[in-house]
Amino acid sequence: MMVHGGAGNWKRTDEAAALEGLRRALAAGTALLARGGSALDAVVAAVSLMEDDPAFNAGTGSALNLDGEDEMDAGVMVGDGLKTGNVTCLRRVRNPVQVARKVMEETDHVLLSGEGALKFARLMGFPDYDPVTAARRRDWQEKREALEEKRPGRSRLARLLRVHPELGGGTVGAVALDRRGKLAAATSTGGVTLKLPGRVGDTPVPGAGNYASPAGAVSATGRGEFMMRFLTAKAVCDRIGAGLSAQQAVDRSLSAMAREVGDEAGVIALDAEGRMGIGHGTAAMPHGYFTSADGKTVVRMQVPRHRA
Ligand code: ASP
Repeated sequence: MMVHGGAGNWKRTDEAAALEGLRRALAAGTALLARGGSALDAVVAAVSLMEDDPAFNAGTGSALNLDGEDEMDAGVMVGDGLKTGNVTCLRRVRNPVQVARKVMEETDHVLLSGEGALKFARLMGFPDYDPVTAARRRDWQEKREALEEKRPGRSRLARLLRVHPELGGGTVGAVALDRRGKLAAATSTGGVTLKLPGRVGDTPVPGAGNYASPAGAVSATGRGEFMMRFLTAKAVCDRIGAGLSAQQAVDRSLSAMAREVGDEAGVIALDAEGRMGIGHGTAAMPHGYFTSADGKTVVRMQVPRHRA
């Protein structure tokens, strides 16, 4: 099983909390797998814990849009049968990833948005919850003010679209392989700070920020607009399906993506033999993994330099 806490520039002071959050998420997910639980149960449990952790930009502590509102995206997918459920621009629930799972299991659809997604969540028993933290509100305020100061007098929207949205890191994701050899992926995010209201990112778009096939499971993070143009998660899964190792598939996909659209992205990938691939074009991407082969858990902020 592997997890990540979002590609971007991480402040030194936030690193310990992020790594601790990853460790907790991995422990919860792998405990389920050890008891014979499914890969889907494991990734949803791990991502739910990271959504509840304000160290990350997902669920509680999600980044806020231009209007200062939470609009969260999440997706789950299982490789077996290519089943997937996703939500976008979802407000006021605690665990968007669990709502995404319900979309997969309880509807004929793949993606629900905004008001409709919220109505569905309530129908499924998810209560009203305010995910906005005081720290996130302060961060939003500062960025909003900086934006006003940068170029006073110019058209606000033109200015905004040029210099924003901002990529801060903190999206969360998990991929897992269970005892039955099934793969699953889950990803959740508040998106990017100061995004325009209604903006849909890569996370809830299958193949862009999240994907699983019988051959591989992938969770991506970074500039969503790049991933949506390149279909990063699907590109990695397809390369695994064509016979590359998970690491080769990640390396080749990220290089091709960098050439074609840009490199502000990070990926974790797992293949059906449990081999891992990790890569990021950003300064950091906190991530961690557990392999049952050696029973070891590793968490770290970056891929070690000689491999990056
Ligand atoms: N990919 C996310 C988005 O664009 C953001 C991130 O991963 O930092 O919504």
